[in-house]
Amino acid sequence: MLNQLDGHTILIGLMAYPIRHSMSPTMHNHSFEKLGLNYAYLAFEVDDKTLPKAIDSIRALDMRGSNISMPNKQTVIPLLDKLDPTAEMIGAVNTIVNDNGVLTGYTTDGVGFMQSLDDENLNIRGQKMVLSGAGGAGTAIAIQAAFDGVKEMAIFNRDDEFLENAQRNVDIINEKTDCKATLHHLEDQDDFKAQLADAFIYCDSTSVGMNPLEGQTLISDPSWFRKDLIVYDTVYAPRTTKLMEVAEAGHVDHVFNGLGMMLEQGAAAFKLWTGEDMPVDYIHDILF
Ligand code: NAD
Repeated sequence: MLNQLDGHTILIGLMAYPIRHSMSPTMHNHSFEKLGLNYAYLAFEVDDKTLPKAIDSIRALDMRGSNISMPNKQTVIPLLDKLDPTAEMIGAVNTIVNDNGVLTGYTTDGVGFMQSLDDENLNIRGQKMVLSGAGGAGTAIAIQAAFDGVKEMAIFNRDDEFLENAQRNVDIINEKTDCKATLHHLEDQDDFKAQLADAFIYCDSTSVGMNPLEGQTLISDPSWFRKDLIVYDTVYAPRTTKLMEVAEAGHVDHVFNGLGMMLEQGAAAFKLWTGEDMPVDYIHDILF
């Protein structure tokens, strides 16, 4: 890697706080090295106070772009020149591309989710999805899945500050896509169970299952699951969540954590910056 850096090396950033735990620098730098691309990817601790200057530096240093993560995914939007239409609908940006000083914002989380299922030869287009959560990840998944052809979507959220977001996601999907979306309350357990009964896939995009909610799950009864229901937890640390354990106890054939989504959202950003396909299998072996 170091041998490769020279006066022509192109910089790509990751701007978030906290960020030192991120796997993205390893993922992208190993990919550049593997493909012989003269880029370097570095993580920068950037919060809402330093974000405007950091975004200006993309232009000033002629960086190719940056990933953006919490707490900057929404606040970055007014600082950009253009938004990809899907990012506009999602209302969040995780990838910036710099084309000669013009900064365009994209969201690749939803693309990553869909691609991770394609990688497993599972096609959820034309099918019913039950989705819990309507935060950053849930919104990206809901809108991308609806645009990509999921036929019916039951979106559940608890009664917290994200409930309004869930309603907004339902409204956008019904207005702009052929998918029929409905809003449901996580507190209504009978409804939750009933919606799952004829679903093709259940995706949990809430923070439940991840530290500090590790060991918790929204569904603790294995009998809620069927063998042929796909169960997808967006959490990837820990690798096996409580929800996944319950699904396995319910004899579900296809149970996933969020690693595939994480890898494929990175691959989608990599393609936007470099025009090349990330060597996903190679990176998977390095990281996991
Ligand atoms: P967020 O804060 O934007 O949204 C949190 C969501 O969780 C909201 O819908 C909220 O209502 C819900 N929630 C929180 N606590 C809850 C509880 N106790 N019971 C029920 N619902 C609860 O967070 P986010 O950025 O959308 O991240 C959510 C999850 O998605 C995290 O677990 C994160 O690890 C995962 N994620 C995965 C990837 C990936 O690439 N695999 C990418 C982004 C996020």
